[in-house]
Amino acid sequence: MTKVNLEQGRIRPPSEAYSLLLRMTRNCPWNRCEFCHTYKGERFSLRTVEEVKEDVDAIREIVSELKALSWKQGFGGEITTPLVNHILQNSEHYPEGFRSVALWLHSDGKNVFLQDGDNLILKTSQLVEILNYLKKAFSSIERITTYARGKTVSKKTVEELQEIHRAGLSRIHIGLETGYDPLLQYVKKGVTGQEQIDAGKKVKESGISLSEYVVLGLGGKRMWREHAIGTAMVLNQINPDFIRVRTLKVLKIMPLYQKIEKGEFILLNDDEIVREERLFIENLEGIDSTFVSDHILNLLEEIEGKLPEEKGKMLALIDRYLAIPAEEKINFRLGRRAGFYRTIDDLSNPVLKHQVEEALGRIEKEASGGVERVLSDLMESFI
Ligand code: SF4
Repeated sequence: MTKVNLEQGRIRPPSEAYSLLLRMTRNCPWNRCEFCHTYKGERFSLRTVEEVKEDVDAIREIVSELKALSWKQGFGGEITTPLVNHILQNSEHYPEGFRSVALWLHSDGKNVFLQDGDNLILKTSQLVEILNYLKKAFSSIERITTYARGKTVSKKTVEELQEIHRAGLSRIHIGLETGYDPLLQYVKKGVTGQEQIDAGKKVKESGISLSEYVVLGLGGKRMWREHAIGTAMVLNQINPDFIRVRTLKVLKIMPLYQKIEKGEFILLNDDEIVREERLFIENLEGIDSTFVSDHILNLLEEIEGKLPEEKGKMLALIDRYLAIPAEEKINFRLGRRAGFYRTIDDLSNPVLKHQVEEALGRIEKEASGGVERVLSDLMESFI
């Protein structure tokens, strides 16, 4: 059993599922966004360079322990699937940090994600020192990514970002959420569209890859059009490498919930969100970003592609969904959220469709609140 443990943060982007997680800061220095629950009730703090370096040393030790375990179990020092399964199935003997290092090595040991919500808040010299130490410790590393707030990034100079890039940072994930200023204020994002543009442009100029997140449904009934168009206009100026969408789901812990209770914020339904997404994509112009829908909350996961060439394909898929008759649509929505379907084409699979029909029948008979309640609960379970 290992004695080595690591400090780990709470989240990482879906695209970093198998990356090594290295915590640079704790929680979020802003923590006021009304649609975000991730760090509510948690205090922000910086980790010292020494603390992070100690974690890098601990990871090195875990790697040695893993190799020794592999030899002992007859896998010749390789981090094989049976070895990883053994570790995952005996989690009481292997702490979370140990398990995540095992998964990282098994996946190829090339990617690292720096936690938590806003690491660019560290001094440039500190970031550079940690990145250099990390790259020296593991020669296999090819990609290092982090979350950062647009506001924080906008305060760095291009030269500083270039220095950070040279030290090894490959990509920054920024939560744009919306580009529409009144909505940014309404949800207390603490940044303006112009600051997001400045931040995004600086990241691009520095050579660091840029991923911008957008929340589908954030405009609600009152601002959905402005949200779609305003967000596209901001992104058109940034031209990020990736535009990633995730659908709004409001939990009771989020301040936005109070606005819903008061009737001030009215949520969009699935079809309305899809229409909002359509308007958003339609307005993305003059950029060559890759549109990604890799969040489990999204109804139409298949709306993905390279702009501008695949824009027509994405819009056609949305139109295909919108044209589905109402009864089949409810079947698709449940099938998708319950994990039966991944794409609209899956609706043509008679076996899957029948299974979803049966589930729908049971829900209508037994579940209080009906299918909409079940769909909402399913989405809540994804967060
Ligand atoms: S900046 Fe990001 S992590 Fe912080 S509260 Fe807002 S959405 Fe959440």
